[in-house]
Amino acid sequence: MINIKGLEKVYDTGKIKVNALKGVDIHIKEGEFVAIMGPSGSGKSTLMNILGCLDKPTAGEYTLDGTGVSTLSESDLAHLRNRKIGFVFQSFNLIPRTSSVKNVELPMIYAGFKKAHMKSRAQELLQKVGLGDRMDHLPNELSGGQRQRVAIARSLANDPAIILADEPTGNLDTKSGDEIMELFKELNGEGKTIILVTHEDEIADHCKRVIRFRDGQIVQDVVLEKKVK
Ligand code: ADP
Ligand code: MG
Repeated sequence: MINIKGLEKVYDTGKIKVNALKGVDIHIKEGEFVAIMGPSGSGKSTLMNILGCLDKPTAGEYTLDGTGVSTLSESDLAHLRNRKIGFVFQSFNLIPRTSSVKNVELPMIYAGFKKAHMKSRAQELLQKVGLGDRMDHLPNELSGGQRQRVAIARSLANDPAIILADEPTGNLDTKSGDEIMELFKELNGEGKTIILVTHEDEIADHCKRVIRFRDGQIVQDVVLEKKVK
């Protein structure tokens, strides 16, 4: 599903060049549940932005579901992103003063869904993440864990094959973080491919595979043993 080879990213601000990714190779199959770990500044978010078609690599190959991403135009890149990828961020990134339902509807507009179906689909997704009784609440009327649930419902709006989550539990207490991970596990069980960045071993333990970065390179890539319950 995801194939990257020799991926490099150089940020050139004019004054200084930062080599954020230095020859990264990753193969991720459909249905995987991957944690990306590593110190601050090691290139994790840079990788997520490229995987999510928000940014392009400076060099190397990225193939997403058979499409060569590195050579796409901006509009084809956006088209691919709007149809294949769901995003979840550390700071939730919900639209303020806008209800849960409206927040979840938003990506459906870009994915070209029929207007008549949008509201009922958003309501179903909010039900699914356990917020059936919070449809009309505004973000500032919700707890952190609930806001992240709205963000996860929103990430599902375009029925993406892949969910990318950059430190989704970073702003949450342990209990809410664990609940969010249970939700991701459930979605993975339904076939979604999930790739998430985390600093915490306890969060990574929920995943099936851990890829560790240091200084723009992969230093470890391991499949976690299934725990015997
Ligand atoms: P992480 O998510 O692992 O903390 P990032 O991918 O955000 O790391 O950053 C990797 C490196 O690239 C850092 O040295 C960071 O300062 C640099 N960087 C990230 N984004 C930009 C940008 N837009 N412009 C210039 N440098 C950047
Ligand atoms: Mg980051």
